[in-house]
Amino acid sequence: MVDCLFCRMVAGEVPADVVFDDERTLAFRDINPQAPVHVLVVPKQHHPDLGTLTAGDPETLVALHAAASQVAAAEGVAEAGWRLVFNTGAGAGQSVFHVHAHVLGGRPFSWPPG
Ligand code: AMP
Ligand code: ZN
Repeated sequence: MVDCLFCRMVAGEVPADVVFDDERTLAFRDINPQAPVHVLVVPKQHHPDLGTLTAGDPETLVALHAAASQVAAAEGVAEAGWRLVFNTGAGAGQSVFHVHAHVLGGRPFSWPPG
């Protein structure tokens, strides 16, 4: 999609610190990390948010979760615990409208989230 930051990163037009890459998904480090491990996992196809991805391409939704688990293991946080976050909608803090999962780890996390 034209003018979508994450589509441009998937296309290689904008640099990304890639940690995982498969047929359906790409994972790269967040430019403004909120934890020692902060990786974004995105589908290679454009979907604005979790709802549209779930409705339109459930296989890729599963692939996104599998990629997130592999990233957590590769980053060494699988045993200690990690958090998977989909900010969905502006009111929940979504700022890039190409669906992405935040893989967060490497520090304790409080509940409820802020
Ligand atoms: P959200 O606010 O949930 O939509 O998350 C968007 C995330 O994208 C934020 O955590 C940003 O720090 C991150 N971000 C924005 N631009 C870039 C970039 N060029 N490379 C990596 N992460 C980015
Ligand atoms: Zn996109």
